[in-house]
Amino acid sequence: MTDQPTLTLNDGVRMPQFGLGVWQTPPDQAAEVVKTAVEAGYRSVDTAAVYRNERGVGDGLKTAGAAGQDVFLTTKLWNENQGYDAALKAFDDSLARLGRESVDLYLIHWPSPQRGLYVDSWKALVKLKADGRAKSIGVSNFQAEHLEKIIGETGVVPAVNQVELHPRFQQTALRAAHARHGIATESWSPLGQGQLLSDPQIAAIAEKHGKTPAQVVIRWHLDSGLIVIPKSVTPARIRENIAVFDFSLDAADLAAIAALDSPTGRIGPDPMTATF
Ligand code: NAD
Repeated sequence: MTDQPTLTLNDGVRMPQFGLGVWQTPPDQAAEVVKTAVEAGYRSVDTAAVYRNERGVGDGLKTAGAAGQDVFLTTKLWNENQGYDAALKAFDDSLARLGRESVDLYLIHWPSPQRGLYVDSWKALVKLKADGRAKSIGVSNFQAEHLEKIIGETGVVPAVNQVELHPRFQQTALRAAHARHGIATESWSPLGQGQLLSDPQIAAIAEKHGKTPAQVVIRWHLDSGLIVIPKSVTPARIRENIAVFDFSLDAADLAAIAALDSPTGRIGPDPMTATF
């Protein structure tokens, strides 16, 4: 599949706008799931050390042949391994599990502000990029003040901030901060962990386009300039979720989805108060 959109990150690297998320994908299923996705045309996979499935992801990419080597691969530094030296060691461990010499994108998973280590961790990621072992570096779950802090201390702007984002939690203020710094926004739990798929407004838009609710929500992320990484382990849904490049939403659809945004729409932990 060559007609998928990419975004050019602030370091010049091109990242597919669409990919597969593998949180809660069991380690012993990850290889098969990733292979199925690559065969369906996926060219980006988002894992993390804490998902405990990096080995399966690496195996799946290897068994998918040349296309698997073409995949944009993201993994993340877990909170317990924050700090300069610990982050470098954790990165080596991730690469060993993935069976790779480098990754395309390495993210700090959470700011975990109570640890006071995210600036030191960011300095380690800056070194990994300079060494060419992480082609791009970024963060996840960072709020504007965390972004300002790492940029102020190092002068290096993250390429990506991966945050909870879906029609019920659209992150307008944070996206404006990203735009000011040239940071790409990546949406985690883009389907609201599946909860959005029974929304009547989404269902009506899906019906209008002859698409499924999941396809409408994924299309909304793409049309909004976001990077989107829906998760599924079910082959039919993996294929369904990538069949989104043959339609687009109109102004009425976008207005209806804009109205679903809610200050209480967050599903996951609040990065400011999370205690892990
Ligand atoms: P999601 O919003 O992608 O929803 C996934 C769930 O939706 C599936 O488990 C399934 O129940 C359902 N689903 C998927 N496709 C469907 C379809 N076509 N039809 C019907 N139901 C369908 O949830 P997610 O896994 O939380 O988020 C996606 C990815 O984001 C994760 O796998 C992970 O890679 C990433 N993520 C990152 C963080 C972070 O802190 N950085 C946190 C959560 C998730």
